[in-house]
Amino acid sequence: MPLPADRLLDELPPEAGIYALLLSCRRRAVIRIGKLGELRLRPGLYVYLGSACGPGGLRARIGHHLRIAGRPHWHVDYLRPWTEVQAAWCRTGREESEHDWALCIRRLPGALVPLPGFGSSDCRCESHLFFFRTRFRPPALRLSRAVLYSTRTGRFRS
Ligand SMILES: [Zn+2]
Repeated sequence: MPLPADRLLDELPPEAGIYALLLSCRRRAVIRIGKLGELRLRPGLYVYLGSACGPGGLRARIGHHLRIAGRPHWHVDYLRPWTEVQAAWCRTGREESEHDWALCIRRLPGALVPLPGFGSSDCRCESHLFFFRTRFRPPALRLSRAVLYSTRTGRFRS
């Protein structure tokens, strides 16, 4: 199913901030994540936490995730081709960090760490990637003052 990516991108803030990327997966496979190791891919929902501080902010970064990277740079670039972007929670500013959100997601019922160290090479988090065995629905995320950008329904507030 093609993503209404243009519509989503127009809604995204061009400012710096943090985000949670919701990736649905329907496949089973073992994929290599750069030098980190192998990820045993399963059907369900993957949630990835990141921050965007470069030019174009959150809009540019989520735009990157909506495409398939020709040359993987981040760990999530290796995972992305096996999944579909379902939604992105975004929050501009830096009052909270992606590490706070990682802890928040880790504490949700059913959260699993599929590959320790994923996206967290430069911090103390166990991982910036979590897995849920749900059937492609976002878990009940309560990320403070975040805005959800859904690839299906467009923008709405949390
Ligand atoms: Zn972290």
